[in-house]
Amino acid sequence: MGAVLQASLYRSAADRQRLREQGITVRLVKGAYLEPASLAWPRKEDVDASFDKLAEQMLRPDGCLPDGPLRNALATHDRERLMRAQRFAAGMGVRPQQFEFQMLYGIRRDLQRELLKAGWQVRIYIPYGTEWFPYFMRRLAERPANLVFLLRNVLAA
Ligand SMILES: Cc1cc2nc3c(=O)[nH]c(=O)nc-3n(C[C@H](O)[C@H](O)[C@H](O)COP(=O)(O)OP(=O)(O)OC[C@H]3O[C@@H](n4cnc5c(N)ncnc54)[C@H](O)[C@@H]3O)c2cc1C
Repeated sequence: MGAVLQASLYRSAADRQRLREQGITVRLVKGAYLEPASLAWPRKEDVDASFDKLAEQMLRPDGCLPDGPLRNALATHDRERLMRAQRFAAGMGVRPQQFEFQMLYGIRRDLQRELLKAGWQVRIYIPYGTEWFPYFMRRLAERPANLVFLLRNVLAA
């Protein structure tokens, strides 16, 4: 079991610290849900900055958890975030076994290949099980462009 941290939430920095102290692995995401400004940064630039800051904390020597089947993960398709994280990890001497990048199945395959080519680990996220329909509807609500993406891929199959 691991936990997901949403970079959009103000509380995530404190949560990350507590999870680290308890040795719980973390997947860092930007955050898919619309939250009030009392809880989360409303502007994308601030969410991105928060993602970078939390990612750097996770990639510092004291932020990485030991090698194992469960690792800390940075889950994003945002090229700028990925570039920054790679530069920071390389500068810190972090080994590829110590964390991983994660992306949704079928999204930004070009970036997935680039990361693999650069020697990093990439895990692909595939929702499955009986609750796939509500999950799918939430993803559509989050990003209506997903419908076009889905139709294009179904028609191309
Ligand atoms: C492995 C994984 C697990 C996740 N788990 C959670 C979770 O538990 N809780 C939670 O709140 N959120 C979760 N998310 C969703 C996350 O919070 C973001 O909403 C989502 O990843 C989109 O943000 P982004 O970081 O890719 O950056 P964005 O700035 O939103 O996107 C960057 C670029 O990526 C591409 N892109 C991004 N999303 C899509 C898409 N759906 N379809 C097509 N292109 C896309 C576009 O080119 C876009 O310009 C998860 C995401 C991933 C990858």
